[in-house]
Amino acid sequence: MNYSEHWQSLIDYDQQHIWHPYSSSPNPVAPLGVKSTQGSLITLADNRQVVDGMSSWWAAIHGYNHPQINAAMKAQIDTMPHIMFGGLTHEPAVELAKRLVELTPAGLDKVFFADSGSVSMEVAIKIALQYWISRQQSQKNRLLSIRNGYHGDTFATMAVCDPVNGMHHLFNDVLRQSLFAPAPQMGFATESDDQDILELERLLQQHRHEIAALTLEPIVQGAGGMRFYRPAYLEAVRELCTKYDVLMISDEIATGFGRTGKLFACEWAGITPDIMTVGKALTGGNLTLAATLCTETVSNTICEGDPGVLMHGPTFMANPLACATAIASIDLLMESPWQQQIKQIEQHLHSELTPLSKLDGVTDVRVLGAIGVVELERSDLGPQIQAAALEAGAWIRPFGKLIYTMPAFNIPETQLGILSKAIVTAVTQAQAL
Ligand SMILES: *Cc1c(COP(=O)(O)O)cnc(C)c1O
Repeated sequence: MNYSEHWQSLIDYDQQHIWHPYSSSPNPVAPLGVKSTQGSLITLADNRQVVDGMSSWWAAIHGYNHPQINAAMKAQIDTMPHIMFGGLTHEPAVELAKRLVELTPAGLDKVFFADSGSVSMEVAIKIALQYWISRQQSQKNRLLSIRNGYHGDTFATMAVCDPVNGMHHLFNDVLRQSLFAPAPQMGFATESDDQDILELERLLQQHRHEIAALTLEPIVQGAGGMRFYRPAYLEAVRELCTKYDVLMISDEIATGFGRTGKLFACEWAGITPDIMTVGKALTGGNLTLAATLCTETVSNTICEGDPGVLMHGPTFMANPLACATAIASIDLLMESPWQQQIKQIEQHLHSELTPLSKLDGVTDVRVLGAIGVVELERSDLGPQIQAAALEAGAWIRPFGKLIYTMPAFNIPETQLGILSKAIVTAVTQAQAL
């Protein structure tokens, strides 16, 4: 990129002093400067406008600077940007809780507000552990997870991320040892022999007396491989958790608020987990906020035990500005024709990306809801594909073998066309090398 002197000095300082996600410092890879955003367009520091294919990691489902959300944020700033939540409450928290209780699967009636997805999963795990302590079965303190899972970057969550592509090798000595079931067989519409379920059941049978909870991402495994799996697997997990007296934690941080074509991915199987987390798209990608929901059975059990309270309370819990933003985003979503928008994105990505599967070096193309994935044989082509896509007018951020996109639900059709063409051109060019 051709930077002005001002921008070059910002980039230089950034590279010297700031950590970016999964980066070193000093950072040899210069980040791209961004000036502003509007809808699904990002204006870069050299005034180029590119189409956003990432929704800022699943979050910006309405695009950026939506007037309805911005207005709600401005109004809340003038009323009360923040107030502590210990012993106090406010309208944004109550109104947001109402919406979450109403919209999430039936039975999830208790809401804990957290600052980020990882923290909401920490809280989910803490709730599960405290539940068994309250039932005087503290030996049930291990977690069972699914390979290729991703639940966050903090310590309890790292221990339930995939042991190979997670950070287990680095932190093995300090991470709690979780149990891992094989990943569900790939494919949303696949005909399965249920071998994956049998192996999961074997683990549950063998370790039921020490397992507190099972964690999984429903239907779509995100950062651990962008894998889609069948609703029947999710349904079976629910039944097995009940059968072996293990709590089910469903992590809807990536899938929640429509991304897969259902409001929550658990709806594909018609199940209610015991504990569920939401984050990312909760505020429409405007502020960090997440929530952990659980059933009354779980919360009552904790409150009947010793010390009778859930031992967690972040300083910025239920930040009113974040809650007001989430309310505006959810209301906007519910007023919008989101099912139809996602269907259209699904059909578009399906017809535009599927031909790539004929290329040598492309192992799979898969689309579900507003998620499109092109999986390559090689894992070293990402930077080059990203650069070529940018040249063609789209921002994507491949990781490893995975070239993927999850645009805003209201992305205009012409911009969606630019995005898919950019991916097709970039992948085709890379494969031709
Ligand atoms: C992103 C993500 C998290 C972690 O959320 P943060 O806000 O980054 O802490 C947890 N689980 C899933 C499924 C995610 O996609």
